[in-house]
Amino acid sequence: MKNQKSESIPEQEIAKLKESALFLEKGKTKFSSRLLVIGGLLTAGQLREIANFATRYGDGTVHLTTRQGVEIPHIPYEKLHLFRRAVDKSSLQPAQSGKCVRAITACPGTYCKFGTIDTQLLAKELFKKFGKRKNLPHKFKIAVSGCKHCCSKPQENDLGVMGVGNFAVFVGGMAGKTPRWGNRLPFDVKEKSKLFKIINAAIKWYEKNGNIKERFGATIERIGLENLLDELNKV
Ligand code: SF4
Repeated sequence: MKNQKSESIPEQEIAKLKESALFLEKGKTKFSSRLLVIGGLLTAGQLREIANFATRYGDGTVHLTTRQGVEIPHIPYEKLHLFRRAVDKSSLQPAQSGKCVRAITACPGTYCKFGTIDTQLLAKELFKKFGKRKNLPHKFKIAVSGCKHCCSKPQENDLGVMGVGNFAVFVGGMAGKTPRWGNRLPFDVKEKSKLFKIINAAIKWYEKNGNIKERFGATIERIGLENLLDELNKV
């Protein structure tokens, strides 16, 4: 397996590894692993574990992704099974990959002096409630900001929550090749329980109406924001 080229790694295997957030790199012999981070928060112990993974299985470097995730690059194919076993035994886990609700990003609004909501707690709660949603039309990104400064860019996510004392919600944002600024719902949400119901209804609407590989914002463009709002107003 030493210096194995991707041509000799079966396509099915490469696709399966991708589902576990292991991505084949350019040189076609090494993989990058993304690890799950919620709200950008890690313990010192987890940082030590990450450093250990990078040293033992990668080349000693760690990349921080734009969505607050941790990526360990340059893991040789032949070391993947040992790496995965080490991750399984650690306090970390692979990131979400594919057509699912991805890791929830959040600013430090919990303790930032401008924060109006507990962003870190909300990110954890959102991940617990929605992090297992799979088989969506496309990936679904959620971000939480503690105030109008929007440091975690809720308007650039499929669904964004902005603390305004209450919760302001943005739908259909995305960056990428066809960026779209999320629409702010015409109402803010007071209760967290209602916020969860609104998010659930938005995901269900997307599941029902989205075409395969169509981002939430594109579905909103195609079908109309009013149609989504009609659904959310029933909550
Ligand atoms: S969005 Fe607001 S609360 Fe969050 S880090 Fe930025 S300034 Fe602080």
